[in-house]
Amino acid sequence: MAEKLIIIGSGPAAWAAAIYAARANLQPLVFEGAVTDANRVAGTLPLGQLALTTEVENYPGFPAGDLGAYFTAAMGDALDEGTRAFLAESARHGATGPTLMELIRRQARNFGTRVITDDIVDVDVQSRPFGLSASDGQHYQSEAVIVATGARANYLGLPSEERFKNRGVSACAVCDGALPRFRNRPLAVIGGGDSAVEEADYLSKFASKVYLVHRRDELRASKIMVQRAMDNPKIEIQWNRVVEEVEGNDREGVTGVHLKSTTQQPDVKLPISGFFLAIGHTPNTTFLRGKLALTSKQYIQLTTPGRTHTGVEGIFAAGDVADDYYRQAITAAGTGCMAALDAERWLAARGG
Ligand code: NDP
Repeated sequence: MAEKLIIIGSGPAAWAAAIYAARANLQPLVFEGAVTDANRVAGTLPLGQLALTTEVENYPGFPAGDLGAYFTAAMGDALDEGTRAFLAESARHGATGPTLMELIRRQARNFGTRVITDDIVDVDVQSRPFGLSASDGQHYQSEAVIVATGARANYLGLPSEERFKNRGVSACAVCDGALPRFRNRPLAVIGGGDSAVEEADYLSKFASKVYLVHRRDELRASKIMVQRAMDNPKIEIQWNRVVEEVEGNDREGVTGVHLKSTTQQPDVKLPISGFFLAIGHTPNTTFLRGKLALTSKQYIQLTTPGRTHTGVEGIFAAGDVADDYYRQAITAAGTGCMAALDAERWLAARGG
């Protein structure tokens, strides 16, 4: 028998969609992704990008404070060691990304959402109901589908970068930049696009200095952003430089960066406490190529302004998989809600 609604994804968009769909009696089935080495390396494990961050201070409703009693009541026995350790810290920092995601997931399950810990690897968009294949070989059918598979930040792929992830290496300045470890310290941002300049500018509010490291002698960013970088006395651009190694140790995390020149200049080593990547994102849409209309950057193309409709009627998209601009947990959750309402109305109009 066909499902009414399958949701693919495991971030704030997917779980927010599930909360709304479950409360609308659509009995949603969520494919939250498989726990595999490939997904770990790609940053696409269940609970998504937020599970890869530390403190989350900008999600409304989760201020710094003693949240222990709240989490204990909500999570009960599911409190793992990491969460317990976090509880001791919550008075200072508020929620962590993994804890926030566990809470949203639990909220969805409380309303009857069913969850399968596997990847959807193929969607038959021609058949009605839609056909979906999971990586374990099982096949499913669903009248409507919400895709909320997110996007993953691009990394350079250096072992030293991997080693210091969450200990000074971050791909989200807005998420992590205000953390105590970065305050009044020199930081580096890698990239030359609008994101890199915007993140350097943002970080300069907290940092003592921000090195903007770019591999060419000209920024890709728009003119106004370039001017912003030039006008900011705390930003120093390191032109024609690529990262050779992130330096650090187990106690302090990141302590420096070794840069190579692309123009035969001597190498430089800069002391830094934070290493921020801003070299673009890759949406998780490989399994949809040739099936759904995608943008030139492979994000899902939304077809109706202000709605979550895609190029195939009955398939909706929410969160970062269709958004290369805002990319925030709160915006993803908002569009997840929208997708559930769009799906519900679409199903109702068909008598579903
Ligand atoms: P972009 O693709 O525009 O820029 C990526 C940058 O990273 C480029 O400068 C690129 O260098 C560099 N880069 C890519 N790979 C590597 C690598 N392996 N090593 C070193 N450098 C690398 O991505 P953004 O995230 O900056 O922007 C995405 C979109 O969002 C753009 O359309 C942008 O305009 C928009 N945006 C707008 C903002 C605003 O208006 N306020 C803010 C943020 C984003 P190179 O230039 O040499 O290719």
